[in-house]
Amino acid sequence: MHPSKFISDVVFQNNASHGIGLGRDVANFCNSLTAKSEIVTNRLETITGKKIGWPSSFVYLSDILDRMAHGFIAKEKKWCAQCYRESMEIKRPESEAKVADELYWSLAISQYCAKHLCSLSYCCGVCYQRQPFISNKYEPGFCHYCGTSLTKAPHIICDLDGHSQAEAESYLAKMDIFIPGATEISQFDLKILSRNLRGLVDKGGADGLNTLAECFGINNMTLKDWCSYRHGVSVESLAKIVDGLQLPRMSLLFGRLEDLLQSVGYLTKQFNFNVKKDLRVHLPDISRYLNETLAGKREPEARSEIAKKFGVSTGMLENAFREELKSVSKLYEKLKMDRRKRIKSSLQYKMNLAVQRCASKKRPLDWPHIMAELKSTDFLGISQRQLNLAKEKAIKRYCESTRRGCSRNVPKQSRKT
Ligand SMILES: [Zn+2]
Ligand SMILES: [Zn+2]
Repeated sequence: MHPSKFISDVVFQNNASHGIGLGRDVANFCNSLTAKSEIVTNRLETITGKKIGWPSSFVYLSDILDRMAHGFIAKEKKWCAQCYRESMEIKRPESEAKVADELYWSLAISQYCAKHLCSLSYCCGVCYQRQPFISNKYEPGFCHYCGTSLTKAPHIICDLDGHSQAEAESYLAKMDIFIPGATEISQFDLKILSRNLRGLVDKGGADGLNTLAECFGINNMTLKDWCSYRHGVSVESLAKIVDGLQLPRMSLLFGRLEDLLQSVGYLTKQFNFNVKKDLRVHLPDISRYLNETLAGKREPEARSEIAKKFGVSTGMLENAFREELKSVSKLYEKLKMDRRKRIKSSLQYKMNLAVQRCASKKRPLDWPHIMAELKSTDFLGISQRQLNLAKEKAIKRYCESTRRGCSRNVPKQSRKT
């Protein structure tokens, strides 16, 4: 039986004539917020006779999250190459899968593995193809296109110089409600979120609603809706609240109001919602800065970077300088395009350097290690084929340039391809 037919007939029991797409469809059905996802969990428990521990979908968040959330689940599979490696080392019966995916990897916003603090992989390390959520050709853990182990997929390792572990940690903490065991709070309820938001508004005094809305970068009607427990919020909106209040953890929004107030107070030092005043203090400086950028006297930057520079939230910045920011963003996009072009032409040079550095540190010349050396390079706009060619050329060049030969340093996988 074809896997997609199996899933649609046996698990979903909807006997669809075409089965279920094994790419995005299957993840949207199984992992997301809808009633369908709940049915899948129940069916899986019936079929396997096993109780599924941590929720196997995000249904537990369906009370707070907006059900129409498009783009909640990633379009393509992501995974942690190190988790896969560890899992494959465990001896198991033949019939059992060698690896299993963590639910939170499938979220569009997920970037890091919470266990290894490395970046999640999204393409095969040999053919660079992005992967379907379920392969119907190879067992879990192997590339759907070329069969290579997905443990060899490119990813950035955080403890190697340059890539900050703290950054990964704080990123993960900010999305803790999606990660098993990351928070002690077990109830995620829109009622609690609304109550807490009302508490914050009250603390803000007479102008609390407007000030808070500005702080989140939303209009005050939307905030009123959230406060009155009318409908769910999207993940992006939750992130705006977390950023606006500079909260270290998203789960604080669903706990006791006292704890939330304390975290806000702790981080902003003086919790009276003086943000509006703060922004006003910075207004002339920000305005000058943006004008200088537009006049070409400064290099354009991302909005979030500008906001950080002046210690204000991105939302506040956007409210105050909508038109200017639009133009700056256009310049910034152009700069990024130019950079990409430059990167493309300097790819071979950088790849040679990375391979040399890797080899001189006596690290294997495989993707994870080479990637770690290339950590700050933006690969957008470079095809997988070009990347692979550059890597092979660089290894060849290195081998030829050293008399010691390279059999010790180059793993079989890299030489074969
Ligand atoms: Zn991991
Ligand atoms: Zn592959």
